[in-house]
Amino acid sequence: MTETAITEISDFTYNALPGRIVFTTGGAMHRLVEELDRLGAKSVLVVTGARNEDLIRQISRQLLGRVAGVFADVHQHVPADIAAAAVRAAVDASADCIVCIGGGSTTGTAKAIALTLPIPIVAIPTTYAGSEMTPVWGITENDRKTTGYSTNVLPAAVIYDPQLTVGLPPAVTAASGMNAMAHCVEALFLTTTNPITALMAEEGIRALSENLPRAVAEPSNLQARGGALYGAYLAGATFASAGSGLHHAICHVLGGTYGLPHAETHTVMLPYFTVYNQEAAPRAAHRIASALGTDSAGTGLRALMKRLDTPTTLKEIGMRPEDLEQAADIVFQKNLASNPRSVTRAELERLLYDAYSGNL
Ligand code: NAD
Repeated sequence: MTETAITEISDFTYNALPGRIVFTTGGAMHRLVEELDRLGAKSVLVVTGARNEDLIRQISRQLLGRVAGVFADVHQHVPADIAAAAVRAAVDASADCIVCIGGGSTTGTAKAIALTLPIPIVAIPTTYAGSEMTPVWGITENDRKTTGYSTNVLPAAVIYDPQLTVGLPPAVTAASGMNAMAHCVEALFLTTTNPITALMAEEGIRALSENLPRAVAEPSNLQARGGALYGAYLAGATFASAGSGLHHAICHVLGGTYGLPHAETHTVMLPYFTVYNQEAAPRAAHRIASALGTDSAGTGLRALMKRLDTPTTLKEIGMRPEDLEQAADIVFQKNLASNPRSVTRAELERLLYDAYSGNL
């Protein structure tokens, strides 16, 4: 007789979100037309980074007169004046749908519009940030990034196409992929996590750790790019349902207040955050390590970063040592209750100094 494993389930809450996901290799433009037809969209505002002129031409050709405007003034962390300009562009175009194509900054700009105007978004992500799966928006004003949660900003459809990511430079691929990894790792550590999200997080860690090194080494390998995008989808879905805690709080402060680059900040902070928590949450640490295929979560992440050739200290990505104390103050004011190890102000400052100087 075979023994049956017993699954132990504690009380939990899982917040399922609506979403329609299309995965295609090379068919994004064709599938976009189908999605717009489904939504009955006739007047589309395209939101994209300034460099994507070729894509804008492709979309305009494919959508046959449905493009009513293009907004290409995209900036990281969505400055409030840019958000306002994007809303004006949507009003001027009488847009009934937003198509955003680009990284997390582009998706974030589209979300800023949908926060104000009731217009659906079709997102075509070209990095691994995962924002397209979340109802989380962020807008930065006077050096402070405000984030909020609204299902109005959740895209009505998301189209993933690895073909559109082959031009993503290796350094951006690596950092953006580690940003996705951070969504999965933090979700497993949160005291508020649940078994469904934890499954997605583990699979996300596996997909990212297997595929990111190949995508960095061979940028046009569509198998690797597809695997990394699948990991990014899982990471975004994980972040959407689990929420965030200490790690994301630190990165939002370092990005929003001190202008540090978003994905690189997540990359640098992740092993320090993991080592800080792994003794307090050994089960989560074990699941992260297993998904990475290593014995230790913290050193496994650092080994992956070595293969990806990413920065490893806050110093390298532009943090000034004189700002660390104030950064610790700002982070400490946030709600950090979901972190498995209770956080003191002194420990937080130590964590930031360690990440600044490379003391893992
Ligand atoms: P990004 O969107 O700023 O893109 C990084 C760089 O990559 C840019 O220079 C961009 O032009 C370039 N790029 C994008 N796609 C490309 C491609 N296919 N080929 C070549 N170059 C390409 O950075 P990101 O890391 O994708 O996103 C960061 C932003 O997303 C931050 O503002 C962050 O707060 C936000 N974010 C939000 C959520 C959320 O749930 N709300 C989640 C993750 C990230």
